[in-house]
Amino acid sequence: MPIIIQDTTMIDQIIAYNKTFVERKAYQKYATDKYPDKRLAVLSCMDTRLTELLPAALGLKNGDAKIIKNAGGLVIAPFDSAMRSMLVAIYELGVNEIMVVAHSNCGACHMSFDHFRHEMLARGITAQTLDTIDRCGFDLNQWLEGFKDTPESVRRTVETIRKHPLVPADVVVRGFIIDSHTGLLEEVIPTLAEYSFTRLCFRADVIEPLNDTDFFAVHTPEGTFKMTKADFYRVFNNVVKTKSYQQDGIYHYSKTPAKALPFLEK
Ligand SMILES: [Zn+2]
Repeated sequence: MPIIIQDTTMIDQIIAYNKTFVERKAYQKYATDKYPDKRLAVLSCMDTRLTELLPAALGLKNGDAKIIKNAGGLVIAPFDSAMRSMLVAIYELGVNEIMVVAHSNCGACHMSFDHFRHEMLARGITAQTLDTIDRCGFDLNQWLEGFKDTPESVRRTVETIRKHPLVPADVVVRGFIIDSHTGLLEEVIPTLAEYSFTRLCFRADVIEPLNDTDFFAVHTPEGTFKMTKADFYRVFNNVVKTKSYQQDGIYHYSKTPAKALPFLEK
């Protein structure tokens, strides 16, 4: 039987819908508990295109993951609300992997405070209020500024979480950009560790502190060799075991081996 909705606001319509939802016991298929079954937290954007697309594209169902959302999917300060939620997810709810998922064509990209200021004044916020906030030492400009470069913004958020003094070292944190239309995930390469040398060499002091999925780059006159620590361990396992690498902390190639060529970017 169709529900006749006479109320005027969207919220009133939702309240009416909610009553029938519960009466029909439509909630039964969502039953789960507060612990994320996949021990995963996802920090993402509040964008409406992602409401259903994000969990569907990641294969997540109710109960699988803690999904934390804000404008842009950002951690903007080490003790902001998104970071607080992640710490709760880690310590109270057993999360041990975190995905930061920004998306293409995000509204928080290229946001500017000038636009906010204009809209706020038009909606009745007085210039005096804005000045008072400014005089209190709160930088609205910085707070409401968007990011310019999506991969760079993801890298910054991933790094803030990874290096957070209260995040345990064994928590995996990886960054992605999801296509807002197709749902395709693309991983954002974490901040590179890099060094230059006259030929290909591997430095233990640079490589060893990295996480397995971190990339490092070796700039040589031949070009730049770029690989993850996991690639290095897989392809150059003989190097890892050498006395040079283990004891002297550096292994040089006098001639570039063929197996290094797939990692060469000219
Ligand atoms: Zn967005």
